[in-house]
Amino acid sequence: MQRLQKVIAHAGIASRRKAEEYITQGRVKVNGKVVTELGVQVAKKDQVEVDQVPIYQEEPVYFMFYKPRGVISAASDDKNRTVVTDYFAEVKERIYPIGRLDYNTSGLLLLTNDGDFSQKLMHPKYEIDKVYVAKVNGIATNKKLMPLTKGMKVEGKKLAPAKFLILSTDTKSQTSIVQMTIHEGRNHQVKNMLKACGFPVEKLKRERYGHLTLENLKPGDYRELNKNEVNRLL
Ligand code: URA
Repeated sequence: MQRLQKVIAHAGIASRRKAEEYITQGRVKVNGKVVTELGVQVAKKDQVEVDQVPIYQEEPVYFMFYKPRGVISAASDDKNRTVVTDYFAEVKERIYPIGRLDYNTSGLLLLTNDGDFSQKLMHPKYEIDKVYVAKVNGIATNKKLMPLTKGMKVEGKKLAPAKFLILSTDTKSQTSIVQMTIHEGRNHQVKNMLKACGFPVEKLKRERYGHLTLENLKPGDYRELNKNEVNRLL
């Protein structure tokens, strides 16, 4: 048995707080009857609907995936382009990515059917470190990248300080490899921060998400996370 608001949040429809609002607004039915009380317990066999749309109660599952470049971080695409869930044809649960990597960014992406968990992970208060490696145009120096560590303002938004490490520079091709660690997840954040320092990103890969690394996965591979690994993320 689980609390009704948890089941709704779990389905990825809303945060727990929003789910509570839906219940008190009379938008939720259990086995065909409107429930407006909070805290009602529902079993797996109970049919829950929000705004007449049924919710399927599935066991929560969690995966890490090596997203290749040229794949959309979504469960569907209106232009029929390849999406990350196309790689999970054998997984019957209705999973979706936790946050996004850009179309041309590769690397570690988590997927789940647990909406509650997904919302938690994306909440800024959890401050989960994500480590990226970028190939940038230009010869990076500590001095030029120092603004990254100060909390820059990009496109009018103040960003949390990031950490960086210059892994290599190549004078011949005038490019550098820079590792960056951030815990926020704003759109194009790494690219925007490096560009603002004068280093447009040519290639970007996410190598680490919290304690998880890509290990020996190849682009397009995935593996299920165990309970311990999932719990360690929160
Ligand atoms: N920052 C970016 O610029 N792109 C990504 O895909 C992820 C982080």
